Amino acid sequence: MPRESLRALQNKRLHNTVDYVYHQVPYYRETLDRVGIKPENIRSVDDLQKLPFTKKQALRDYYPFGLLAVPRENLMRIHASSGTTGKPTVVCYTANDVDVFAEVNARSLATAGARRGMILHNAYGYGLFTGGLGIHYGGERLGMTVVPVSGGATQRQVTLILDFKPEVICCTPSYAQTLGEEFKKRGISPEEISLKVGLLGAEPWTETIRVAVEASLGIAATNIYGLSEIIGPGVSQECIEARAGSHIWEDHFYPEVVNIETGNPLPDGKEGVLIFTHLTREAMPLLRYWTGDITYLTHDVCACGRTHVRMGPIRGRADDMLIVRGVNLYPTQVEEILKGIPEVTPHYQIVVTRVSTLDEVEVKVELTEEVFRHVAQDVITDDVIAVDHAMHALRNKIEHLIRDTLGLGVTVTLVPPETVPRSEGGKLRRVEDKRNL
Ligand SMILES: [Zn+2]
Repeated sequence: MPRESLRALQNKRLHNTVDYVYHQVPYYRETLDRVGIKPENIRSVDDLQKLPFTKKQALRDYYPFGLLAVPRENLMRIHASSGTTGKPTVVCYTANDVDVFAEVNARSLATAGARRGMILHNAYGYGLFTGGLGIHYGGERLGMTVVPVSGGATQRQVTLILDFKPEVICCTPSYAQTLGEEFKKRGISPEEISLKVGLLGAEPWTETIRVAVEASLGIAATNIYGLSEIIGPGVSQECIEARAGSHIWEDHFYPEVVNIETGNPLPDGKEGVLIFTHLTREAMPLLRYWTGDITYLTHDVCACGRTHVRMGPIRGRADDMLIVRGVNLYPTQVEEILKGIPEVTPHYQIVVTRVSTLDEVEVKVELTEEVFRHVAQDVITDDVIAVDHAMHALRNKIEHLIRDTLGLGVTVTLVPPETVPRSEGGKLRRVEDKRNL
């Protein structure tokens, strides 16, 4: 759709949504009344700034059904995401919402190179988590043959991939790495694996992981992005043609990027907090939802021809960002540095401790199999590699790179391959913060 027509559609849908929640959701009527805004004041997306943000706390305060815009009987489905603290976040769908959920996931699959008739190996978790069912309905909508394998049971997954010969795989990037390692262990080369494309998401990842996954599975990997509060997976998707940012399905979810402190909108290319406003949601529409994800937008014309705005990779989460000795640290920054070092793998863990009043950061980094084989066996104790001459130089190099790039002194510990905790289909926690802040 030409951007002009898209903008007209967004303006109309935004006005309808604001009018709808004002009359259907007491929380929004009170919020808008408090700032003196009536639905007729919101005529276009340029008026969005007049509206306050919706934070996750509102979803907690009105748990489970307090933000519904429809009677509970009109719901077709309820999903929930496990909160790290307290109650889960509930997300509700009418029949129309489920229809949109299928549509945006079908679009995402097609954008990643999937086609009608292909087999989809769907290794996202099924259940309350939105990932499995979202992709599942999208695959069916596109006319694919869907294998609802869900997460875990890696041995069985490998067998099913070898036997069914799917072209498309959906899972978390860390699980794609786990599968790749399992194929390697069995002596199966990437050329022998039928998979052609992968939609990876549900956790931040980097170019390093992309290269590793593509090499081990023999696929072209693209990013799928989403969050349950907005709909689940299928909020945005990287196109197979350009693979330069993920197209946001902005006819349904209007994006903004704002300054983390002031909340002011940021221009293209500037990193800040990603905000979404529902344009078509029936059950639980949210206005200016503060995702906490850090990224940037670009309206540059994409090589693929799609007109939808693109978002960059997720740099981290505003609330996952570590502040160490006053320095902002996103785990993905460490990952970017490790990618330039051939002796180590992209698997790492950041451990933050506080010794009296001083924060200490340890970065555990795995050696590659090849390098590890050449380490003298007598220097390995308790899964930690003591510093002989070569290892000392490597450790120093990584510590220097991190200090020079991030402005933060850290201690690097080199560990043998496959000792950093792996994911079994779920999300990988790269950070262990022991400071009890
Ligand atoms: Zn594109």
